Amino acid sequence: MDLTDFRTNMHQVADWIADYYENIAQYPVLSQVAPREILDKLPANPPSEGETFEHIFADFQDVIMKGMTHWQHPNFFAYFNANASPPSILAEMLTAALGAQCMIWQTSPAAAELEERVMEWLAQMCGLPADFHGVIQDTASTATLCAFLCARERFTNYQVNEEGFANDQKFALYCSTETHSSAEKGIKIAGFGRNSLRKIQVDNHFAMIPEKLEQAIQQDISKGITPLCVMATIGTTSSTAIDPVRKIGEICKKYNVWLHIDAAYAGNAMILPEKRYLMDGVELADSYLFNPHKWLLTNFDCTAFYVKDKENLIRTFEIMPEYLKTKNDQVVNNYRDWGIQLGRRFRALKLWFVIRTYGVEGLQNILREHIRLALYFEGLLRKDGRFEILAPTSINLVCFRYCPAENEADLDSINKQLMDSINQSGKAFLTHTKLKGIYTLRVVIGQTFVNQGHIDDFWLLMQKSIRAL
Ligand SMILES: *Cc1c(COP(=O)(O)O)cnc(C)c1O
Repeated sequence: MDLTDFRTNMHQVADWIADYYENIAQYPVLSQVAPREILDKLPANPPSEGETFEHIFADFQDVIMKGMTHWQHPNFFAYFNANASPPSILAEMLTAALGAQCMIWQTSPAAAELEERVMEWLAQMCGLPADFHGVIQDTASTATLCAFLCARERFTNYQVNEEGFANDQKFALYCSTETHSSAEKGIKIAGFGRNSLRKIQVDNHFAMIPEKLEQAIQQDISKGITPLCVMATIGTTSSTAIDPVRKIGEICKKYNVWLHIDAAYAGNAMILPEKRYLMDGVELADSYLFNPHKWLLTNFDCTAFYVKDKENLIRTFEIMPEYLKTKNDQVVNNYRDWGIQLGRRFRALKLWFVIRTYGVEGLQNILREHIRLALYFEGLLRKDGRFEILAPTSINLVCFRYCPAENEADLDSINKQLMDSINQSGKAFLTHTKLKGIYTLRVVIGQTFVNQGHIDDFWLLMQKSIRAL
């Protein structure tokens, strides 16, 4: 593909993308293909000779698109949304075009300095403490692993980095029974072993019970085990439950335990001053993360990770081979030392495009509308009378189930049927969770282009699906 062809093809792709967004509501939200259907359409061997763009692009449209679930569809109510937006997509195209490896300042000074600045912007937008230092990571899972490693090194005076774990050293880490599975994954990778994780009981609203946390810490101390880190969640994945950060933080201070906060989804709502009460006590945290790639109109991947002790972070991760040393190392940020990756994508650019395009107020208006729509949807469920709300709607996730009076016993399977029939219609996509053992439907309203009309249509679709049960 020479540059003349490239220019033509790029125009074609640009038009395709704009058309896709114009017509996105006509695609089935959840891909309707059978397992391995796409695989069977892909040749077993790679082509030995190059093919034309026309041919490849046609296969993209005919084969690949059939197997896509449309995350940017306004009726995508599943999991947590991962919303994109026009400015974010434009920036991502430029990032791909530049193809820069932003590992140290010298490999692209603008990438390092823009990252420093947009992380400050985000902290200001969210009302985070002034002594938080930010860095972009690929995902929340990676940021949580980084937090565990920082805690490990601080408490062992950087000895595990040098010598590995000492034989008699035993650590415990704490989260709630509702914490995201990235806690468990991080603990396995960081070498603590899964059995070092204590899952603390939650209250009726699925939030960690601080008294139970303190008991568990005391129990570990009495056994000669060092309490190392508590991971609190602002907005759990199941039900957006809010752990009581201040109380947990005070316990952490008392026992000299690292406090890591996972606000992957709900952290985005902190751009709304009226929602900041949800993170009361955040200044007690040693590390904090949230995912602009979930709800802040910045396409995947982009996790904002903040730490209080920048020196500790850098000391945990730094490497200094001779060929990467430069004369500017003291005055600039070399982000390869702020996490796991050496080579890094230029992710700050899309945040910069998004924040400047919408402005803080523009972003606030969009998130406020999502929250309003979630409460509106909850209102429809309550008015109807046949539904049960199963968790507080703390932001924009509604957890509920359909409970027709005549079918007490079989509610789990009725709700599963209802969800499957909605998802198979291709008109909307929702997922489920279990809360206190109850099969629970989750509807998250956070799509970039979702409006009240989509929610009304979804409500009609639900009624129709219920009649057909
Ligand atoms: C989505 C989510 C994660 C995982 O996010 P990744 O960026 O995909 O690793 C972690 N914690 C919570 C609370 C989440 O909602």
